[in-house]
Formats: sequence, structure tokens, C-alpha cells
Amino acid sequence: MTGEAPAHVLVLGGTTEGRALAAALDGRPSLRVTSSLAGRVAHPRLPAGQVRIGGFGGPDGLAAWLRAEGVTAVVDATHPFAAGMSRNAALAAAATGVPLLVLRRPGFAPVPGDRWHPVPSLTAAAELLPGLGRRVFLSSGRQGIGAFAHLDGLHFLARSVDPPEPPVPSSIEVLLDRGPFTLDGERALLRDHRIDVVVTKDSGGAATAPKLTAARELGLSVVVVVRPPVPEGVPVAADVGGAVRWLERTV
Ligand code: NAP
Repeated sequence: MTGEAPAHVLVLGGTTEGRALAAALDGRPSLRVTSSLAGRVAHPRLPAGQVRIGGFGGPDGLAAWLRAEGVTAVVDATHPFAAGMSRNAALAAAATGVPLLVLRRPGFAPVPGDRWHPVPSLTAAAELLPGLGRRVFLSSGRQGIGAFAHLDGLHFLARSVDPPEPPVPSSIEVLLDRGPFTLDGERALLRDHRIDVVVTKDSGGAATAPKLTAARELGLSVVVVVRPPVPEGVPVAADVGGAVRWLERTV
């Protein structure tokens, strides 16, 4: 990372890893870092350094942005379920020749005692739920709550950063909160609300894993939505250190 003009790195963020990467790169004189957020959360935790907010306008818009801003490398540190953005990044990188890395934390790993039901989508999770329980803890994000809106016989406790928008299930209690969460807190939450089934995406990461431990301890079923694949041919780093090393080799 030497030379006269600093290399320009675009970090597609909205995650703990995106913020940690921006913090790790902040202040390096050989780098200019821009973090990009979608603008979904009303009061986002902002990464260190320069930040831009809002969509680019599809893969073509992103490619135009990369060219106009002289971007030398892109790190896609978006959430594992932000598949549209990851696809756009892969297409824009291929169109412009800008190197792209996906920074993706490992998924949750089941351990003995877990009663997990893997499903391919939130819709499939909704189909499975009536056979598994009556009181559901939904921690799959406010954007997907509509997939459960028709399940009138079930009660939902939904946790999200911002309030969900309709449609939502007829019996729902919304808990506005954001991680990290503790094991004690998750245990108490599941017990106090008499939850008998949990729905989660396989987001991975320490911030949201305690609910899985609490569910295992309480013998609850957990419906786990499996991750969409990373776009083909794009290298992946599992942690911030790996992304920094890739950048040191690449720019
Ligand atoms: P998505 O469906 O993959 O993306 C939809 C569109 O949102 C993209 O085409 C893009 O618009 C815009 N977008 C997404 N991420 C962006 C970013 N970092 N910077 C600028 N534009 C972005 O994404 P999503 O699942 O709605 O997630 C949106 C954001 O929330 C992501 O940044 C993600 O990291 C974060 N997040 C998502 C989840 C989740 O469960 N999906 C959970 C936690 C955080 P244009 O086509 O106009 O460029």
C-alpha cells in the first residue's frame, strides 16, 4: 500500500464487520476508505471515516460510481442475507475490473442438543411453524415479517432495530432492540414470553448467537433460514484480519 495517490477502497457495509474493517483501515495514509450503507436503519451506527448512504442504482449504477470515484478495490461486507447487493457488487466488479472481496462471517454451527430445522426461505419457515409451536420468537429482521402475516393462530414476539411495516401477523408484540445480546438476557426473554419456537436467519456472528444457546438449553425448536450462496468466483474472507491482508496484497 504505497504510492502517491491513496488507493480508494469501497466497503459495502451495514454490519459489525463492515464497521470493524473501516475502523481497522482508518488513518492509513495510503488508503482512502468509503463505507456505504443502504439507508434502511433510521439511526445507523456509523463506521469510521467517510460514509455514503443510499443505493447506487443497480449494478450499472455501482459500476459508474466505481469508475467516477476511482475505486481501486471493493470489500462486500454486507449482511450474509443481502444477496441483491452482493450480486450487484459481483456484476459491477466484473464490468469494471475492480477487485472484489466478500467479507462474510462464518454461519452458526449446530451442536449436540440443538433442535434445528433448516429451511431455504422465510416463506418455508412460515409453512413449517404451525407444526412446531404456538408462541414464536422472530429474530429474522423487520423486512421479512410479512412472510408470517397470514399465520393467525400463532403469537409472535418480533425483535428488530426499527418497527416493522405492515403486513404483520395479527398477534404480534414488537421489541425494538439491537445486539449484542447476552445469554442471560436471551434466556429470560424466551422464558418470560413463554416462547416455544424460534425463527432465525443463519446470520452467524457472536452478537446474535446467545439466543441459539438459550433455545438449546430450553429444548426449543429453531427454524434456521440457510444463507444464499456467495456469488461464484468471488474470494471470501471470514474475518476483518483476512480482509485487511487481502487489501494489502491487492491495492
Ligand atoms: P439487498 O436486498 O441485498 O439490497 C437491495 C438494494 O439495497 C441493493 O440493490 C442496493 O440498492 C441497496 N443496498 C444494499 N446494501 C447496500 C449498501 N451497503 N450500500 C448501498 N446500497 C445498498 O439488501 P438488504 O438485505 O435489504 O440489506 C440492506 C442493508 O442492510 C445491507 O447493507 C446489509 O448489510 C444490511 N443488513 C441486512 C440484513 C438482512 O437480514 N438482509 C441484516 C442486517 C443488516 P441499489 O441497487 O440501488 O444499489
